[in-house]
Amino acid sequence: MATTAPASVRHRPKVIRTAEDIGTVYQFVCLCGATGEEQAARRMALVDLNEHVLSLPRVPADQQCRTPRAHGRSPWEPCGLCADQTSLFDLEMS
Ligand SMILES: [Zn+2]
Ligand SMILES: [Zn+2]
Repeated sequence: MATTAPASVRHRPKVIRTAEDIGTVYQFVCLCGATGEEQAARRMALVDLNEHVLSLPRVPADQQCRTPRAHGRSPWEPCGLCADQTSLFDLEMS
């Protein structure tokens, strides 16, 4: 599997739920192609998701978005609208 991703790659990590013969399984998937193991619990898949997000290059504090939902930004994406403001990094799971 190629490990070099183009700079324009977008990350949209999420946890999907699938009904299997063994029961419901949860799996972390990301638009960039990253996936986690199938997990028996959603919170286990969220751990995989968190590890992926933490592995991404950090956005400089002064470029992080204060209102990601309003601006359509993710915590790992710089936000020009908020570039001159600083805030605490708060990853919200939905
Ligand atoms: Zn990703
Ligand atoms: Zn913003």
